[in-house]
Amino acid sequence: MAAHQEKKLAQERKHKPTQNDTQTSQVQWGRAWEVDWFSLASILFLLLFAPLIVYYFIMSCDQYQCSLTDPLRDLLTGNKHLSDIWNKTPTLTYRAAGIYSLWVAFQVVLYVFVPDFCHKFLPGYVGGVQEGAVTPAGVVNKYEINGLQAWIITHVLWFANAYYFHFFSPTIIFDNWIPLLWCANILGYAVSTFAMIKGYFFPTNAKDCKFTGNFFYDYMMGIEFNPRIGRWFDFKLFFNGRPGIVAWTLINLSYAAKQQELYGQVTNSMILVNVLQGIYVVDFFWNEAWYLKTIDICHDHFGWYLGWGDCVWLPYLYTLQGLYLVYHPVQLGTANAVGVLMLGLIGYYIFRATNHQKDLFRRTDGHCRIWGKKPEYIECSYMSVDGTKYYSKLMTSGFWGWARHFNYTGDLLGSLAYCLACGFAHILPYFYIIYMTILLTHRCVRDEHRCSSKYGKDWTRYTAAVPYRLIPGVF
Ligand code: NDP
Repeated sequence: MAAHQEKKLAQERKHKPTQNDTQTSQVQWGRAWEVDWFSLASILFLLLFAPLIVYYFIMSCDQYQCSLTDPLRDLLTGNKHLSDIWNKTPTLTYRAAGIYSLWVAFQVVLYVFVPDFCHKFLPGYVGGVQEGAVTPAGVVNKYEINGLQAWIITHVLWFANAYYFHFFSPTIIFDNWIPLLWCANILGYAVSTFAMIKGYFFPTNAKDCKFTGNFFYDYMMGIEFNPRIGRWFDFKLFFNGRPGIVAWTLINLSYAAKQQELYGQVTNSMILVNVLQGIYVVDFFWNEAWYLKTIDICHDHFGWYLGWGDCVWLPYLYTLQGLYLVYHPVQLGTANAVGVLMLGLIGYYIFRATNHQKDLFRRTDGHCRIWGKKPEYIECSYMSVDGTKYYSKLMTSGFWGWARHFNYTGDLLGSLAYCLACGFAHILPYFYIIYMTILLTHRCVRDEHRCSSKYGKDWTRYTAAVPYRLIPGVF
């Protein structure tokens, strides 16, 4: 019922122009009530084309040795029809459905029923029950942080099978890659649709629902902020981390196993991709508690963008380099391999150090040292939807004094390294850096828009103190 009231309120707000004072805009933070035509057009484009883009990339590897232009050329010259390509595409199989169901069920069990024990013996690791950030409705959710444990258990079992039990081949993921794509799509659409229905009829927290009145926007960007089933099954934390990011390293391992099977060796480029992306994934789980304070959890609502994106887009497109290397086993010269490794490690260092600086600063409320000095910051305030005033700080020291999102810059350098590991013969492995550049630039703008409405004039003071977004002196 409360959700219906929120929806009604949203419609009233749509018709009643909001006052133009800072206070009103600050109370609205995290709630984009108006959907402009550009957002709507982008959303319709993505809803229609994102599944096709994923299919096109995976099909190109399966049927055209990862060439993105050959399928188009075949279609445009009439050499092939869409139906020829479609008919050659593997269909959904019982085997893939079984593998996928077992995989997701296993991850649910690890997430819901195995409380974290890693924090009890790993020094410096923050796991177990942790609190998220304050939501726009003023709620603070609790989370069971056990992703590192789930990742370790899953990978120990994977290696135990590969080297000892031999229940299934380590190439199982590659061998069923397209049938598994259909399963991932089914889950992605099912969970997004369920989240939408849940937002209307039985939301976890009605005050944190966002109804724009536009069906497509609500479906894509989500209604509920933190949908949950029961006390602990949090949709955002589970779907982003588990079927998606735990799978990432397993998928890469399966590609490496396929190279070994096909060519009798694993190339240094495949090892580089496995190692660099492995570091990124382990970092994610090591810092899962920190992740509670990132935009995905703190600001995004749970809709198709996160639900389908985590099930399909992430595991299929973030792993394109490894897939490409199965078809094109690139062996890099020593200098190139070292160059790629260094770029990847420097990118990772910047990414981690920048994120760590903010985390430390926020956790200690500024009572810490950044690069050996007391951090400088700008005091700011904001209001939750019930009018309660909160205080916060925006740091202007360390990497946060160089640019407003230097963590994204590090992420981009690391992403470039994965792509460079694949050489220059095809564009397909470079999709990742192109996509990440668009994603993170857009994210930067989106986040700043939100921060500006959250902090008002305090945000303006901050942007005056730190004028660049990603690259000091350039952008
Ligand atoms: P950030 O970790 O940069 O978080 C942005 C938030 O931090 C802002 O909304 C604001 O939140 C707070 N903030 C901004 N400036 C300051 C400051 N100067 N001092 C203190 N707090 C500040 O962004 P993300 O959550 O997007 O990214 C987290 C990491 O995840 C990044 O390193 C990014 O590269 C990575 N990432 C990777 C993706 C991938 O697909 N591989 C996708 C997205 C992100 P508040 O309201 O609390 O003030």
